[in-house]
Amino acid sequence: MDLSDSPSEAAFRHEARTFLEQHVHEVPADLSDESDEAESIPVRKKWQRTLFDNGWAAITWPERHGGRGLGPVEQIIWNQECVRAKTPSSINIVGIGMAGPAIIEHGSDEQRDRYLSRILSGEEIWCQLFSEPNAGSDLPALATSAKRDGDEWVVNGQKVWSSAAHFADWGILLARTDSSVPKRKGITFFLVDMTTPGVTVRPLRQMNGKTHFNEVFLDDVRIPDGNRVGEVGGGWGVATTTLLHERMAVGGSMGVFNMDDLIGLANSRGDVSPHERDLLARTYIYDRCLELLNARVMSKLAHGEIPTAEGSIAKLALTRMLAAAANTALSILGPRAIAEPGIWQNLFLITPGIRVGGGTDDIQRNMIAERVLGLPRDEDESRTLPFDQLRRN
Ligand SMILES: Cc1cc2nc3c(=O)[nH]c(=O)nc-3n(C[C@H](O)[C@H](O)[C@H](O)COP(=O)(O)OP(=O)(O)OC[C@H]3O[C@@H](n4cnc5c(N)ncnc54)[C@H](O)[C@@H]3O)c2cc1C
Repeated sequence: MDLSDSPSEAAFRHEARTFLEQHVHEVPADLSDESDEAESIPVRKKWQRTLFDNGWAAITWPERHGGRGLGPVEQIIWNQECVRAKTPSSINIVGIGMAGPAIIEHGSDEQRDRYLSRILSGEEIWCQLFSEPNAGSDLPALATSAKRDGDEWVVNGQKVWSSAAHFADWGILLARTDSSVPKRKGITFFLVDMTTPGVTVRPLRQMNGKTHFNEVFLDDVRIPDGNRVGEVGGGWGVATTTLLHERMAVGGSMGVFNMDDLIGLANSRGDVSPHERDLLARTYIYDRCLELLNARVMSKLAHGEIPTAEGSIAKLALTRMLAAAANTALSILGPRAIAEPGIWQNLFLITPGIRVGGGTDDIQRNMIAERVLGLPRDEDESRTLPFDQLRRN
């Protein structure tokens, strides 16, 4: 397997790096996940506007919709260059990675005209209203209902773990419009204005003290039928488009950790013990293995294949590597680790969440068991029984 860039990939990497080197100074260098949201959101919105103004807001969107019309390999190269340049994290991950692609592929012309450029410019921020208290790994079991009333739908239910919902302008919503058919067949996909009466957003505090995600309550929320994407009952197909893009976005989120920074931390201490040297070496090996796994993913993508099993293996490797990095850093920091906040302490506290978001470790293992080892799927009568005949909590 040749791991070097092809001539066209190298040219794209050079163009991306040149742009980032010219513009990254426009945002503060010390902006991190530690930064206060009141400070970081305007900066990340401004950065999004800079990307939009210069044609870098969406690598894989078609050119006629404001993207670059390139493929997933270029997307990964762009992600790598953003990590290298230490750009702020994207303010509109759901908008660009999920809502936009769903609207482009399944939406109407009116919807494309209304939403797409505002997503790219960062004028309107989006969140994903999919997971529910009883529907996470088994997302098709969602129970939030939407009932038709003339030209509107009336939505009732509860969503949870909705990242960024506390500052989002719009949400992509999955709701059940028919309970008399099997669970995947009765779901419809909507766009919901987060200021609609009946939408209540309640932030959830995490163990790092931040409120990254929220509970969202929907009480008699009226959504115009014009905000439906795709057919009534066709929402699972639309959601699959967004979940595929979500996996790509997760696969590209390596920017949460940089091996050179960890080596820099060790060097700044001077008296690193043999045990800590051992931890560092292990983390380095995990990091290199992950790099090679990602190269395999890129190679498959470049050949037009969908790397589902490799993606699962890479996600498991990522969480193992992040846990090793956080433990190593905390060991090097010693008592200072609990005396003050910092990026390593934050990494330690957010890694359990990364194991869960975008498909838990167990779900990744199930996919590897089925797709690599060829083991049979679990028996699951809920795939075929009507939703209203399923036993639920
Ligand atoms: C940081 C973060 C951000 C998120 N952002 C969003 C968001 O913006 N919007 C949104 O809609 N959701 C979001 N989520 C929710 C996320 O998609 C779910 O948490 C995830 O799908 C798991 O669902 P759950 O939490 O309900 O756990 P469950 O599905 O209830 O799982 C509980 C446990 O059971 C295990 N388990 C479940 N099913 C199986 C199985 N078949 N085989 C073996 N083990 C199994 C799981 O691995 C887990 O350990 C986010 C989550 C995190 C952590």
